[in-house]
Amino acid sequence: MIEARTTLIALGYLATAVAFIVGLKRLSSPATARSGNLIAMAGMALGVLITLFLPGLQNMGLIVLALAVGVIAATWGARVVRMTDMPQMVAILNGLGGGAAMLVSIAEVARAHPFLAPMTRTEAVSSALGILIGGLSFAGSLVAFGKLQGFVNEKPVTWPLQKVVNGALFAGALVLGALMLRDSGGVALAGFVIAVLLLGVLLVLPIGGADMPVVISLLNSFTGLAAAATGFVLSNHALIISGTLVGASGSILTQLMCKAMNRPLSNVLFGAFGGGGVAPVNGATASVAGTVRDISVEDSAVLLANIQSLAIVPGYGMAVAQAQHAVRDLADLLAKRGVAVKYAIHPVAGRMPGHMNVLLAEANVPYTQLFDLEQINPDFEHTDVALVIGANDVVNPAARTDPSSPIYGMPILDVDKARHIIIIKRSLNPGFAGIDNPLYYDAKTLMLFGDAKSVAQQLVEAVKQT
Ligand code: NDP
Repeated sequence: MIEARTTLIALGYLATAVAFIVGLKRLSSPATARSGNLIAMAGMALGVLITLFLPGLQNMGLIVLALAVGVIAATWGARVVRMTDMPQMVAILNGLGGGAAMLVSIAEVARAHPFLAPMTRTEAVSSALGILIGGLSFAGSLVAFGKLQGFVNEKPVTWPLQKVVNGALFAGALVLGALMLRDSGGVALAGFVIAVLLLGVLLVLPIGGADMPVVISLLNSFTGLAAAATGFVLSNHALIISGTLVGASGSILTQLMCKAMNRPLSNVLFGAFGGGGVAPVNGATASVAGTVRDISVEDSAVLLANIQSLAIVPGYGMAVAQAQHAVRDLADLLAKRGVAVKYAIHPVAGRMPGHMNVLLAEANVPYTQLFDLEQINPDFEHTDVALVIGANDVVNPAARTDPSSPIYGMPILDVDKARHIIIIKRSLNPGFAGIDNPLYYDAKTLMLFGDAKSVAQQLVEAVKQT
């Protein structure tokens, strides 16, 4: 009877793992992402359900109570949190995952106290890793959440001998972890947990608020590894597989983000960069001299109504202004008049991975109109107008031409190759990287100053009048 149940549980966990892998695969394209999410959710529901049937499970009342609290809090959170606050939501959920992995490992070590004899060596080492990585992820994610939410100073917080202090703390944590494994002493365990949590806080404090999405992605991979370590402690295959998947996908995403920003991970973690907004990078604000030409809404509408091809390039400003619905109205209106409309999506436009895709999906922009950087760049030279909406760094030609620029080498959208460029933003202020943009002074560029949402709405009305 028990054997049949164990086999069924193993098969169920296998189905869970397959659902996660298929779900992840489908998340790689906007067209299949929704179904991928649903498949992964079904896999998670199955995994949780099966776990309730594990032989020897106790405290069923408490487990059901915890599940109910989690379901209510998550449903409420998902409904009330705004799309622009998603990075915070991900940070807190990720932190809770790391915290859970840490608590399970602490419980297992405490259960084996005073000697770790009942644990195999793999279980003991996995417990220590679960506490170390899970604790780092928990504390680091809470600081990341605080920075994004404005509870903690979003500027990089630095202090003298920072790396030495952090290095010493890390070494101290390892010693305490080893002591915990040697004699399972309660004091060593408590010291280990405190050192790990402190380290998580100190590692994330010096990182600027705007870099938090990269940090959260990295911490997400930590949480996956902590969960996998916990899977070894509990001999739970579903945890090992899903933790490994989260660990791998989190580190791949971190790598992709760093590549798209053309910054090594070490620069994100230790560069004290990205204080949020306009802080100069490496002191570089390379002011570019030249004449700026501006254009009115009415003249822009006349131009847009008489072209054949348009590439819309959204950026962080579109997200801040919540202009996506007005932008879609404008695109639809022009498409009805025979303009071929495409959206050019840069991988790090905005402040979180997939930021533009999420916003445009919310405005029901068809996936077929979205084009990646590699797909659309060859098209710009045949495009009548590139309409840049609140994007700045991702269209800065200095990344191609100026070796002294901090963003030199970052792949950008080649909007400067379009026949005309209209840029909607409120001023000539720089974006995240804090550097001037020669595109504003390009002879083909027309600046349409104003808030992205209000300007897009005015353009809709003005195009209707033409
Ligand atoms: P930028 O940060 O370069 O520029 C955004 C521009 O939007 C600003 O120059 C600002 O100009 C304008 N803006 C702000 N509010 C409004 C508004 N209400 N209406 C109109 N315009 C507005 O954004 P990009 O998307 O071009 O680039 C993203 C940057 O963020 C890159 O440097 C990237 O490396 C970085 N980053 C991205 C992450 C990601 O995962 N996507 C993660 C971490 C960093 P003004 O004030 O004049 O209006």
